[in-house]
Amino acid sequence: MIQTRRIGDATVTRILEYSGPTHDPAFLFPEAERGDFDRLESIMAPHHWVPHMGKLIVTIQFWIVQTGSSIIVIDTGVGNYKPRQDIPRMHMLNTLVREWLVAAGAAPEDVTHVVMTHLHADHVGWNTTWQDGRWVPTFPNATYYFPEDDFTFCQEGKNKAPGVIDVFGDSFFDSVMPIMNEGLARLMRPGDEIADCLTVHSAAGHSPGQVTFRLESKGEVGIFSGDIFHSPLQIMRPEFNSGYCIWPERAREVRMQMLNQLADEEALLLPVHFGDPYCGYVRRQNGGFVFEPATW
Ligand SMILES: [Zn+2]
Repeated sequence: MIQTRRIGDATVTRILEYSGPTHDPAFLFPEAERGDFDRLESIMAPHHWVPHMGKLIVTIQFWIVQTGSSIIVIDTGVGNYKPRQDIPRMHMLNTLVREWLVAAGAAPEDVTHVVMTHLHADHVGWNTTWQDGRWVPTFPNATYYFPEDDFTFCQEGKNKAPGVIDVFGDSFFDSVMPIMNEGLARLMRPGDEIADCLTVHSAAGHSPGQVTFRLESKGEVGIFSGDIFHSPLQIMRPEFNSGYCIWPERAREVRMQMLNQLADEEALLLPVHFGDPYCGYVRRQNGGFVFEPATW
C-alpha cells in the first residue's frame, strides 16, 4: 500500500488509492487488438493484464516527494465521496488515503506543495474533501499548482465542446475551482521549477496542458510522467494512444520523446496507472523499447 525509495537525496513514496482489472482494452486502447496483448503476455500478465478476463489492470496512485523541508504530493487520484455517476469505479469512493498519507509522513496539514500533471478527474480528486456541506482543501497549508493550459481549457468550457471526450467533467468544479477560490492555487507552465527540486516539462497531447515533472538528485533522475503512458503496453507499442488522448498525433510524439529520454538517461519512470511494481525503467531492445519493472 505504501512503498518508499530514494532518488538521490529525495525520498519518493507511493500511496495506492486502488488497483485492479477495470478496463476493457477496446475502450482504453482503441487501436490495439487482442493479439497485441497475447504477444506481450510475458511482460503484461499478470500485473498489467488479466488474460482470462480480457481486462487491463489500471492503478490510481499518488507520488510523494520529501526533500529538505518540502513535502510534495504529485497527482491526487479520484478522491472520496466524489459523485461520478457515469464512471462507477470512481463514484463515491470511501478509501483510507488520508490515513495512508499520515502513515507516509505526509499528513495533509504538513504537505507544502500539491502538483498535478493534468486536470483529468482521476488526477485531482483528493485536492478537496467534503466537509460541513462543501468542498474544502484537503491540504490546507499547501500551494497547489495547476497546468495553466488545462485550467484555461476547462475555464473556457472547451471540454464541453461537441466531439471532445470530456475527461475533466465535474471534477473541475468540485476539485479544482474550490482551491482557486480559496486562493491556494497557482498556474504553472513548462519551464517552471517547483520547490527547488521539480522541473516542469510540456507533455501536451493527452490533455491540452499536460506536463511532466523531472526530479534530479545526485545524478539520479525520476520522471513523473502523468498519462503519457497508461500501461507498459505503450512502451513496447508507443503508437497506441489511450482513448482519452485529445490530440492523437501530439500524444504519440510526446510518448516517443519521453521513451528516448527515459532510455538515454536511465531515468526511473514514475507513472500513475501501471500495476505492480508501479514504476520501472525503459530499455532499448530490437530497435524499440521494453519495460523493465523496478524492484522495491
Ligand atoms: Zn489518468
